[in-house]
Amino acid sequence: MSNPKTAAPAEAAKPSHFIRQAIEHDLEKGSYASRRWGGGPGDGPHHQAGAPDPAKIRTRFPPEPNGYLHIGHAKSIWLNFSLAQDYGGVCHLRFDDTNPEKEEQEYVDSIREMVHWLGWSHAFADNPAQPGVPQPHEYFASDDFDFMYRAAEYLIEAGHAYVDEQTPEQMRAGRGDFGTPGTDSPFRARPPAENLARFREMRAGQHPDGAMVLRARIDMASPNINLRDPTLYRIRRATHHRTGDTWCIYPMYTYAHPIEDALEQITHSICTLEFEDQRPFYDWLLERLTEGGLLVAPPPRQYEFARLNVGHVITSKRKLRQLVEERHVSGWDDPRMPTLAGLRRRGYTPEALRLFAERSGVTKTSNAWTDYAALDAALRETLDPHAPRAMAVLEPVKLVIENWAEVFGSDAHLEPCHAPVHPHHPELGQRPFMLGKEVWIERSDYEETPPKGFFRLFPGNKVRLKYGYVIECLGATKDEAGRASVVRANLIKDTKSGTPGADSVKVKGVITWVGVADGVSATVNLYDRLFTEEQPDAGGRDFLSVLNPHSLQTVQAVVEPSLATAQPEDRFQFERHGFFVADRREHQAGAKLVFNRIAGLKDSWGK
Ligand code: ATP
Ligand code: MG
Repeated sequence: MSNPKTAAPAEAAKPSHFIRQAIEHDLEKGSYASRRWGGGPGDGPHHQAGAPDPAKIRTRFPPEPNGYLHIGHAKSIWLNFSLAQDYGGVCHLRFDDTNPEKEEQEYVDSIREMVHWLGWSHAFADNPAQPGVPQPHEYFASDDFDFMYRAAEYLIEAGHAYVDEQTPEQMRAGRGDFGTPGTDSPFRARPPAENLARFREMRAGQHPDGAMVLRARIDMASPNINLRDPTLYRIRRATHHRTGDTWCIYPMYTYAHPIEDALEQITHSICTLEFEDQRPFYDWLLERLTEGGLLVAPPPRQYEFARLNVGHVITSKRKLRQLVEERHVSGWDDPRMPTLAGLRRRGYTPEALRLFAERSGVTKTSNAWTDYAALDAALRETLDPHAPRAMAVLEPVKLVIENWAEVFGSDAHLEPCHAPVHPHHPELGQRPFMLGKEVWIERSDYEETPPKGFFRLFPGNKVRLKYGYVIECLGATKDEAGRASVVRANLIKDTKSGTPGADSVKVKGVITWVGVADGVSATVNLYDRLFTEEQPDAGGRDFLSVLNPHSLQTVQAVVEPSLATAQPEDRFQFERHGFFVADRREHQAGAKLVFNRIAGLKDSWGK
């Protein structure tokens, strides 16, 4: 299917949204024009000593390396990197690795690989010392642990933080709730010197895990519970994947995140709506540290947008892990998984994911669901204009042309045929293949007793073998089960496609086929949605109860010879069937041909 109107989606005007408007407003006002850049993350004096920041804005994509990226992350990646690109800025890849327990190097590597695969490595390039040599703006939050600790000591000294020795239960009770203000901890009024001594003991490992925490001193009566003296540091003896056992206290995410943004000179810190209530604390913290001279103004600003929810898809890391560990799927890169590794193996392209992210919009409307069909539509639009075509028979049954020797002089004769690699790109050339006495056709293309409107093979009917000849069906030999085992036909002379007079015999049906002589056998994985319900875990439903039992059907197919040399990740349109990709893993492993169905030619879900 080709659609000239949408053939060049990248050319379409970028839709505006509230974050773009905020950036444009800042650029116009020069809100960040005075900033300097110290060449890497650092505190206020570090940046002040640097040159004026060559980046007009700085954004960041800040994954926690505790799992594989999924389709929701693709949206955040697209948003942050494309904004930086569009406005003369830079986007940082930041590993938000402040939580020692769940983070691993394996995830760091796969996250980096996926960001590059999505096509954003060029956006890292920003290296004045070596022009043309891309230097990734890749940072680790754990590199800032020293600063975070120093900032905490400053807050204590300035009377903005205290060590609380209440039990977690007491602290929870003291925080109050939506309708009840909190109550002060008995430790809240402790003098700074005493707090500092305690905090240093925490760091030195003199107290057991959970014995005490460092809290901000803000407002226990605030209507925003996040401002009721939130925890900044906790004691946790855990080995960190990068800092090892250097620390036995770790910063809380809500404390670390604004600091990371500020040290990296981020201008527009974009996150999902759940963090909206954290924004007052984000601002409070950065104001205090700027007052104290640890950071320089202007501070970054946080903007929240609605997270991407995709129909029939689950993005909770915990639930994705359950699918893998309980073997409902073959692994993190199972082509049915919404992980970027899975989507890649399924055959989705970076272009399609970017287009999909862009079209899903940037809004503040929570609970909006994007139809999965929109991803397939983006795939078709980006792939159709250049994917090579091929014929494949997914459920083969043999067709024998009985008058072959009569027409061509010998049963062994092979008649060369060809088809364009792409119907709109003659420059890509032709795919050659052979028509012989025996060909493979789709089982569903033959009916002994045709239903109304069926124009393909049934006794007495004429159809065209695409790019070949018109044939007339004689009937079929059946197996014990009563299914057609061999379909029989006669060829009609002088009807070869592309020759004069080929159209003299009118037919209503055209079928695809692959020659028995030169067809190549291949395994084809026909994938479908992993869940039968649009919102698999809605209302607390057990998402495993709505797994689609037909999400994978594997068939032994026969494909045309041009596919024998397919390389891993080559994508094709199988005529009449949809878009397919040569599997990354299986193709790398050996000579076996394995194709995955990415999407059909049109949306058929729910019909
Ligand atoms: P966790 O459940 O572990 O918190 P997370 O999905 O928030 O997982 P992070 O690694 O913290 O994962 O996410 C990195 C970035 O991706 C964050 O800025 C987050 O807001 C964004 N992000 C995550 N999921 C989505 C989503 N569905 N739509 C848009 N952005 C998302
Ligand atoms: Mg998160």
